[in-house]
Amino acid sequence: MRRKLAVHKFGGTSLGDAERILRAASLLAAASRTESVVAVASAMGGVTDTLLGAAHDAERGRLAQAKRAVEALRERHATAASEIARATGGDVSFDGKPLAELTTALSGVALLRERTPRVTDLIASFGERLSAPLLAAALSAKGTPAQAVDARTLLVTDEKHGAATCERKRSDPRVRRKLLPLVEQGVVPVVTGFIARSPQGETTTLGRSGSDTTAALLGAALGAARVVIWTDVDGVLSADPRIVPDARLLTKVSYREAAEMTYFGAKVLHFPAVLPAIAAGIPLVIKNSFAAGRPGTTISARGEAGKGVRAVTAVPGMCLISLDGKGMMGIPGIAARVFGTTARLGVSVVMFSQASSEQNIALLVPEADRRRTVEALEHEFRFERLTGAIDGVAARSPIAIVAAVGDGMRGTVGIASKVFDAVARAGVNVEVIAQGSSECNISFAVEEKDRVAAVRALHAALSAG
Ligand code: ADP
Ligand code: ASP
Ligand code: MG
Repeated sequence: MRRKLAVHKFGGTSLGDAERILRAASLLAAASRTESVVAVASAMGGVTDTLLGAAHDAERGRLAQAKRAVEALRERHATAASEIARATGGDVSFDGKPLAELTTALSGVALLRERTPRVTDLIASFGERLSAPLLAAALSAKGTPAQAVDARTLLVTDEKHGAATCERKRSDPRVRRKLLPLVEQGVVPVVTGFIARSPQGETTTLGRSGSDTTAALLGAALGAARVVIWTDVDGVLSADPRIVPDARLLTKVSYREAAEMTYFGAKVLHFPAVLPAIAAGIPLVIKNSFAAGRPGTTISARGEAGKGVRAVTAVPGMCLISLDGKGMMGIPGIAARVFGTTARLGVSVVMFSQASSEQNIALLVPEADRRRTVEALEHEFRFERLTGAIDGVAARSPIAIVAAVGDGMRGTVGIASKVFDAVARAGVNVEVIAQGSSECNISFAVEEKDRVAAVRALHAALSAG
């Protein structure tokens, strides 16, 4: 009988140094005794940030600084390799060849003083390309045969550099063709998270934190029994533990709750990872790599019965853009034109609200997109602004979105008043409330300075029942 297959993904903190890589290898070795295993590796903690910092330095012409960052990365990975070799007695060495390509890419950016999204993705890809071979070597040295696999040979995406979407029809057969023979030979493939390639063969990335999505995509393609996401907290908590230290572990979370929580800022899982899991009906299990015995969180079709709000999340770094004007009532298709404009720019509208009086439209977009969104909307509505039908396009930042999430909110009376009561008692002013949001979430915008207070007040109110 074929053994069940599981995908195990390790985040950056869980691969922070040689000791942690060895711990990840032990967890993989233990899993592979009872199931077939495919591993996914993130970059070592902080490495992607270092790479993007080096890209930024190169763009500004600071090539020497960028090259120093490359040397620091070489040193960090070489040290980890030699410590793994010492601990296991195995033949583990660091292959620095990819770093020559990295230096060439950075030199090109410095020369042109121009950094395209395409080259940014190439530069960002080196973290996973360096970490996956180390994890594979550690696993082999501990006695479980393993092989590093570059995900660019498996996953084909669109060309949206920086946040590409996988084309499953093209990718799934490749994943099966390449990984199943290894698995059948008893070799654990250790796949680079986060990175993929475009149809033209250029390196793409799935967005920051995208290794979770790599794991879910592989799990779906391989018909895995589960996808385990190993991280540095016990699982999905009722709030970000850095804001609410006494946040509770949620042992069961529904796909829908997970989608809402991660869309609205719960960093523990990359939002797009939920989609392949839902499509294939595969549970996502979040576990603590530093406390593997703890139960963790299982995300599946069935959450937990119960009433009310289960979690509070927040997204910082937003901008509130509003269109006001008494004449808006008479203008057809305003919302469609607003969405058409943002779609043309490729700006994602995280939240949208239209007052029933039709005198105001508000949208929340990432702060980084503030200027070009305002300019494009001013252009789109230039005639209405001239005639006075629209007063103007106003923008405010920094703004945060706060969300209360729970399947049991549906059909529970009085949730909204409880939520806004708690926020008001904390002295926080609510700027906009989302309209037409799903029934298992209430989301609203506050000033960034009020984000933490709003999350804490809401969490305290929901804990009190
Ligand atoms: P990894 O490197 O393992 O991918 P991440 O930093 O991406 O780890 O995600 C884990 C972190 O997510 C935790 O350390 C925690 O601080 C943060 N986090 C934010 N919101 C939540 C939440 N609701 N539940 C659990 N963790 C959360
Ligand atoms: N290394 C990438 C990042 O830091 C992807 C990941 O860790 O999931 O965003
Ligand atoms: Mg992560």
